[in-house]
Amino acid sequence: MAFDIDMIKGVYANMAERVDKAREIVGKPLTLSEKILYSHLWDGNPSKAFTRGKDYVDFAPDRIACQDATAQMALLQFMQAGKPKVAVPTTVHCDHLIQAKSGAAADLKSANSTSAEVFDFLESVSNKYGIGFWKPGAGIIHQVVLENYAFPGGMMIGTDSHTVNAGGLGMVAIGVGGADAVDVMAGMAWELKFPKLIGVKLTGNISGWTSAKDVILKVAGILTVKGGTGAIIEYFGEGAKNLSCTGKGTICNMGAEVGATTSTFGYDDSMERYLRATGRNEVADEANKVREYLTADAEVYANPEQYFDEIIEINLDELRPHLNGPFTPDLATPVGELGAKARENGWPINVEWGLIGSCTNSSYEDLTRAASIAKQAVDKKIKPKSDFGINPGSEQIRYTAERDGLLQIFENLGATVFTNACGPCIGQWDRSDLKGEEKNTIVHSFNRNFSKRADGNPNTHAFVGSPEMVAAIAISGKLDFDPMNDTLINEDGEEVKLDEPMGIELPVKGFEVEDAGYLAPDEDGTGVEVKVSPESERLQLLEPFLPIQPEELQGVKLLIKAFGKCTTDHISMAGPWLRFRGHLDNIANNTLIGAVNAFNKKTNFVKNQLTGEYGGVPDVQRQYKAKGIKTIVVGDHNYGEGSSREHAAMQPRHLGVAAVLVKSFARIHETNLKKQGMLGLTFANESDYDLIQEDDTFNFLDIAEFAPDKQLTIELVHADGSKDVIKANHTYNDAQINWFKEGSALNVIKKENAA
Ligand code: SF4
Repeated sequence: MAFDIDMIKGVYANMAERVDKAREIVGKPLTLSEKILYSHLWDGNPSKAFTRGKDYVDFAPDRIACQDATAQMALLQFMQAGKPKVAVPTTVHCDHLIQAKSGAAADLKSANSTSAEVFDFLESVSNKYGIGFWKPGAGIIHQVVLENYAFPGGMMIGTDSHTVNAGGLGMVAIGVGGADAVDVMAGMAWELKFPKLIGVKLTGNISGWTSAKDVILKVAGILTVKGGTGAIIEYFGEGAKNLSCTGKGTICNMGAEVGATTSTFGYDDSMERYLRATGRNEVADEANKVREYLTADAEVYANPEQYFDEIIEINLDELRPHLNGPFTPDLATPVGELGAKARENGWPINVEWGLIGSCTNSSYEDLTRAASIAKQAVDKKIKPKSDFGINPGSEQIRYTAERDGLLQIFENLGATVFTNACGPCIGQWDRSDLKGEEKNTIVHSFNRNFSKRADGNPNTHAFVGSPEMVAAIAISGKLDFDPMNDTLINEDGEEVKLDEPMGIELPVKGFEVEDAGYLAPDEDGTGVEVKVSPESERLQLLEPFLPIQPEELQGVKLLIKAFGKCTTDHISMAGPWLRFRGHLDNIANNTLIGAVNAFNKKTNFVKNQLTGEYGGVPDVQRQYKAKGIKTIVVGDHNYGEGSSREHAAMQPRHLGVAAVLVKSFARIHETNLKKQGMLGLTFANESDYDLIQEDDTFNFLDIAEFAPDKQLTIELVHADGSKDVIKANHTYNDAQINWFKEGSALNVIKKENAA
């Protein structure tokens, strides 16, 4: 599981020169975020200042982390690149595909059986291509990364939105789609719009019932779910220094809930303690040598309003514990005020479950604080009114917590200890106490609480809090319980009060683990066979996409003219389809089934121009494909917004869609279309959208002259024989036009590799 000390030394060796150069070019003191960004430019030393929120910049991340659901398609694609090994240190973590039901032992056994082929594939492909593999049960990706790989001043990308958790150790760590990860694995640059910067100044100190979680619950209330979009949130101030490293991780983790690109903290003593406690003295020693480069210049934090685009100040002395929810993580309510709000809104007061853990809150400190509350319930003879579930973040945490008696404390309360995995946090929760879709309330220490997120029930009202607050509320069984002021009646009929939580930042006897669940890859993986059964319904090896020929772009049929919002969820739905994330042909059966047909306002109901009959989008598309006819998708504004999942481009491509013509694109989706060798075009004249009719045929008149900054001309042939000629804009540069000509970006990499 070794962290790559040589890579880290390499990053630090360049840091001083690059940061000093950047400071000179930018002409002012630098924030930590800027130091990390400018020291990770693809071109090496900085040569120009970038405009925040505007310039697209090529970066060279130090690491990649993938979870089991997203890694499947990412690695299937990487296999196409023809590379013997990944270009940067990469790990795969099996954590999403494990259901929480009866408890760790039985649940893990069941997952190992039901998802055996996926785990076997991920293990073998990791072994072949030099990727570290964390087995099912080893832990949740972000906790494992924090414990093993994150390092101050580093840049990481990961195929999961909570990759940002590693900001707790002073990284710029960003969640990306699989296609971006594949580029970096294959040795290419990674592009990002230079982020804006939000500074959060923390004054005072947290104490009593208030925890690091409450900082981000408060920030979420201020910024709302979109307030951090396109920005890095950088925390600083005395209050920041006094937080533990894992507490900082919790805060950064939930930066995803305000839409932030990522969040980070400057290197400090808490990070050094954490590095040393997790067996990384060498990393701490190296970080200490470049300490001044691992935090902002002093002037920045002295006058932050001059250096950040937005400033938020929170006095931790005054910060109260919060519970956020239901159904959205930015609905922040101080604990004492929740009862009135719940009654007003008809939220059930009785709490059915308290869930502790997830990548957000499963550190040793979290478990000790929650256990200090749980223990009081036993000691003070208070019978807990709700069920308890615990998801340790890693085997190292679980083993250490068991050794130190923490898990026993929860078990004494009747808690179920689930696998070290995501479980209820991602809907992998077989909740036996629910018969149907009953309205009910749960509290948890996770990050997201959208409808159906935990148990699939749209009527489960989930509230997010700190682990210790979750423990207290679950013991009381009441959403309106305020442990700071209220009392409980114990089994002897006495009135008792819970004392403030007590936490231990790092285990006094050190962390310990017998089998962390890590498999190092073979030094030379060339002989390793990647396991994919041709009969599998969940995995399918990819075939390279063939280039779309100019003659195929004559007589192109309209597949669907999408009306209104068309997100990546409309193009490639999640839910039950997640199961097929590694099987392109099977998951393609959900292609565009959520898009609304502009001609009849129905979903998944389009006209087959060959037969005149109506059918589902994938079915009709497959009929065109069978006849060798290419198709086009027409769309409205911001087409492809939502997640960065590459399936939304790969599926239409696989089925034979050649072009997508819209009023405007969500940028990542536009790039994904380009990477898959398709045409992603926008109407030069938006009102031309209205010219498109249901039986239209499209001829790309000048595709042979496809060139940067040159519009394409498209002839629309309507059913009555009349024609319109329209212009389409595009943003392809020379390299991207080459992707189109070669069939995909991966084909180009493969060709370059073979040369
Ligand atoms: Fe995502 Fe939840 Fe797993 Fe964290 S614990 S990685 S938020 S599913």
